[in-house]
Amino acid sequence: MNIAADLQKAKNKYKENKYLMEKLGRIKRRELDELFFRIHEEVFSEIDCMECGNCCKNTGPKINNRDIDRIGNFINMRSGKVRQAYLKVDDDNEFVFQSMPCPFLKEGNVCSIYEVRPRACSEYPYTDIPNIQKKLYKTLKNSLICPGVYRILERIKEELKK
Ligand code: SF4
Ligand code: SF4
Repeated sequence: MNIAADLQKAKNKYKENKYLMEKLGRIKRRELDELFFRIHEEVFSEIDCMECGNCCKNTGPKINNRDIDRIGNFINMRSGKVRQAYLKVDDDNEFVFQSMPCPFLKEGNVCSIYEVRPRACSEYPYTDIPNIQKKLYKTLKNSLICPGVYRILERIKEELKK
C-alpha cells in the first residue's frame, strides 16, 4: 500500500471528489448507505491499517466521558488524571488528545488501548455507518487523511459509470 501516493492522488482529485459528493447527496439515503457499506467492506478487506496509522498520527478523535472512564480503568488511572495527562478541550468544547500523534500510538502503529479506544476511533473513517449522506463533506475531508476513503471514492466513481 502506497499511502503517500494515494493521499497525493486524493489531493489532486479533491475538486472532482467534491463534485462526486454533490452527486451522492442526491442518491436515496438507503441506497447510498448500502453502496458505501459494500464498498467499505471490499476496500478494507484489502487494506492493512497497521501499515498506515495515518488517522492516529494526524486526526484527533473526539473523546467522550464514557471513553475517558474506560481508558482510565484500562490504564489504572482516575478519569480526572486521564483528562489532565492526555486531553484538552477543543474549539467545539469537546475533549481531544493534547497533541498528535496520539499518545497511545506505539511502534508499528499499535494502539496500546485498542480494546477501549474512543468510539470515534473505532468508527473512523465513518464510511460504514448509517446515514452517510450527513457525513459526505467529512468523508471528502477524510479522503485527504485515509487512503481507504480515497479508494472507496474511486470505486464508487467506477460503479456510477456502469
Ligand atoms: S486511541 Fe488508539 S486508535 Fe485512537 S487515535 Fe490513539 S492510537 Fe489511534
Ligand atoms: S483507517 Fe484509514 S487512515 Fe486509519 S490506519 Fe486505516 S487506512 Fe490508515
